[in-house]
Amino acid sequence: MKDTVHWIELGLLLGGILILVMSLIPVRAIIQQLPEGNARARWKILSIFIFIFIAGYSLYPFLHTSAHVKPISSLVVPGIFFGGSIFVFVVCSLSLKTALDLKQICILEQEIITDPLTGMYNRRYFNHRLMEEIQRARRYEVPFSVFLLDIDHFKKVNDTYGHQVGDMVLKKIGSVIVNSVRELDVVIRYGGEEILVILPSTKVAEAVELAERLRQKIEETVMVDPNLVKERPAIHVTVSIGVTEFRLHEDLDTETIVERADKYLYQAKSEGRNRVIFNNGSVGLKRVA
Ligand code: GH3
Ligand code: MG
Ligand code: MG
Repeated sequence: MKDTVHWIELGLLLGGILILVMSLIPVRAIIQQLPEGNARARWKILSIFIFIFIAGYSLYPFLHTSAHVKPISSLVVPGIFFGGSIFVFVVCSLSLKTALDLKQICILEQEIITDPLTGMYNRRYFNHRLMEEIQRARRYEVPFSVFLLDIDHFKKVNDTYGHQVGDMVLKKIGSVIVNSVRELDVVIRYGGEEILVILPSTKVAEAVELAERLRQKIEETVMVDPNLVKERPAIHVTVSIGVTEFRLHEDLDTETIVERADKYLYQAKSEGRNRVIFNNGSVGLKRVA
């Protein structure tokens, strides 16, 4: 029985030493990745602790068995316990710092791709997202649609009520769009008052239906609380929309898809604005409103 316990004791010690040595590999990699500073210094302290543990584990059998160091050996186990608690504390505080850094990175990443005025995605996100959609459409063999929306006579809103009111209108239009499209659809502020919507797994007919519903909704919406504007006007605006579908046999890049939507948008403008124009492929251009 005593022998068995002895071997288990030895096995646990050797196993512990091996794990400690292995843990030095990721710790070394972390130190190499980190820039000079507080976090790097703390990880270095942590690696010193690991070395102390390795020394403690290795010396333990000798201290434990030699009679003349008995008083010291009785301190080894409590010493390892104490060191262990400091070790856990350092690891936990480093993990907290890492979690906070990660959170900060997520916020920054989101800010980089977000338009500060409207909260929509910005142009930086557009290329990457549209490219992803093209790849997904090809892989799963499901087409997708895109529409480009432009506010009609927006300059007049700015000229009549001022730039600040123009900003409020843009914000309101953004929220109407975000609340009208589906969760999977991606809303991007493409230019000043141009908004691009990517509709994954959506054929043009469905996209046109959605665009038309949106056009009507925007037309009906009072864009700014009248109490916030002198003379309390009920400001309404209309939008023109060009819709296009990415079909699987097409060899298009992101710019060409947008150019095509822009062509229909231009046509909507020249036909009198406040309408949705799309290409249904075989019949040609159609007007919805
Ligand atoms: P159209 O129907 O042909 O589109 O006419 P429009 O007046 O909307 O088009 P135009 O291109 O002549 O003017 C766009 C205006 O949008 C001019 C610009 O000042 C305004 N605009 C662009 N970005 C912003 C913004 O962030 N805030 C405000 N308030 N106005 C903006
Ligand atoms: Mg415009
Ligand atoms: Mg424009």
